[in-house]
Amino acid sequence: MRTVMECMRDGIDEEIIGCAGEILRRGGLVAFPTETVYGLGANALDEKAAAKIYGAKGRPSDNPLIVHIADWDAIEKIAVDIPVEAKLLADAFWPGPLTMVLKKSDAVPLTTTGGLSTVAVRMPGHEVARALIRAGGGYIAAPSANTSGRPSPTKAVHVAEDMDGVIDMIIDGGDAEIGLESTIVDLTGDVPMILRPGYISQRMLSGVLGSVETDRALISDDSNIKPKAPGMKYRHYAPKADLFIIEGSERKVREKINMLVAEQMDAGRIVGVIGTDESFGCYHGGVIKSIGSRADEITIAQHLYSILREFDEMDVSAIYSESFDTPQMGQAIMNRLIKAAGHQIITV
Ligand code: AMP
Ligand code: MG
Repeated sequence: MRTVMECMRDGIDEEIIGCAGEILRRGGLVAFPTETVYGLGANALDEKAAAKIYGAKGRPSDNPLIVHIADWDAIEKIAVDIPVEAKLLADAFWPGPLTMVLKKSDAVPLTTTGGLSTVAVRMPGHEVARALIRAGGGYIAAPSANTSGRPSPTKAVHVAEDMDGVIDMIIDGGDAEIGLESTIVDLTGDVPMILRPGYISQRMLSGVLGSVETDRALISDDSNIKPKAPGMKYRHYAPKADLFIIEGSERKVREKINMLVAEQMDAGRIVGVIGTDESFGCYHGGVIKSIGSRADEITIAQHLYSILREFDEMDVSAIYSESFDTPQMGQAIMNRLIKAAGHQIITV
């Protein structure tokens, strides 16, 4: 299959949107920009189209897809018993990086929901995404547009690396603004529960709903506790090199990383370091990369996946990273980084 790459960095191009919408309505696959990461879209209400997503990504069939909509009224076709909390959250955060889990209607095939009786729904903030959703029939299943197990794509070239020749079209909308997947909140239980942390923090959700819980599996070290979002149990985002997170006071972290790098280099190995704009100059060896600035935490989120991809291109045997427990997005950043590190954390 030939994959067409279209550029749409300066607003909507109706002709391209029309063409991409046509591909989706005919059951094809189109990757498109969102404010979180690039999505791999298919018609969510067409079982065969949704099945193609699992095939293209190599995604386990029990890992459900998020259904993307462009208008609030669209929700009634795919969800039932919609609680008042859903409208409150939509008014506060949609369009935006928040996904809600609701009871599904019969219109949504079980292929889309990985066999679950619930459906995850999001209205993305990116205007290209919403235009495409409308053009494609209004209900677009769109997981991250990476091969399963690779870091999520935050640039169109990342999508091309994984999906060229496998999908019909890639729409290049520039770099993803947030860089981490949406916050998922489950509204089907007694108390709203965060199943995946993201840009919309627990504090922001509590500001609208009052009490909000976090899935215990996200905060516990006990690997016997299964996450409530099926996809969270997989070790996503695994880089090729062994990744270690070093946490502790600023000074000790820098000393420890320098020591580890020196040891590895003495043994003839090439290693990587993930620091920040603030600490960059304090490291003495290895391939040193700044992930962003602690003074502007979204820059850290934006660059996490692209840094992991950059290191995958290099022959480094280990990567040593600082820890990024920043105020708003710290939980989301560390959730992804700890998974990428396979829980290898060195405390100093
Ligand atoms: P991705 O689209 O690649 O960011 O992955 C979607 C995430 O949403 C996965 O972790 C899924 O397990 C989760 N998800 C999708 N639908 C549901 C649902 N109905 N209930 C719980 N989690 C869901
Ligand atoms: Mg994903």
